[in-house]
Amino acid sequence: MIIAANFKTNLTRLETGEYLAELEEFLSQNETNHSVLIFPATSSLIPHKGKAKVGAQNAYPTQSGAFTGEIGLVHLEEFEIETILIGHSERRHILGESQITVAKKFDFFKEKRFDIVYCVGEPLKVKEQGIEATWEYIDAQLEGIDTQYEKLVVAYEPVWAIGTGLTPTTEEIAAIHAKIKEKVNAPLLYGGSVKVANAHEILSIDNVDGVLVGSGALKVEDFTQMIAIANRI
Ligand code: PEP
Repeated sequence: MIIAANFKTNLTRLETGEYLAELEEFLSQNETNHSVLIFPATSSLIPHKGKAKVGAQNAYPTQSGAFTGEIGLVHLEEFEIETILIGHSERRHILGESQITVAKKFDFFKEKRFDIVYCVGEPLKVKEQGIEATWEYIDAQLEGIDTQYEKLVVAYEPVWAIGTGLTPTTEEIAAIHAKIKEKVNAPLLYGGSVKVANAHEILSIDNVDGVLVGSGALKVEDFTQMIAIANRI
């Protein structure tokens, strides 16, 4: 399984370094077959050698250039980053990334052979229209994306579940994951209000190959508990 943490706009570089040190300490004492991924804020990226992998939450699809406020491939290479999160709902809905922009970013980092964690998920008003509407919405978020890319991981993250404490039922997660798996040949994570208390139930659902955790992973002792839970499944 893949146990991933998205720090979003949290944890300074100092705090991220301390987090990674504690995480590596845990991983050296607790054998795990699972992959552990951490996505720090851009200014908290640090070169990291260890069992956990560090990825970028975002980058512009360019080597370098005139894209104020963005970072490019050269900045990721400086930290030996080879993993990137693309299509996160906060980038789509708050920062206005269109499907065309997301797909361009995907193509660029696919070309560079990055591991890509690609996020999809429906807003509440779509969920309320039922499973068919939900699937149509997610399917549109796969437009222009090479779903057979061998270094692809998909994360299903319903927008209404992110940071709200709400989660779909296990049946709802199983149904959407089964549908995505028909189209996507990749590990499939669930994300949206995952925490220590629900990690066992969620990680035990069919077709859930791991979790992408935001606020529930900000304390390293919680995140390591989730890895321990995955170890027991
Ligand atoms: C996320 O942002 O990827 C996420 C899943 O957030 P949270 O766990 O806080 O809902």
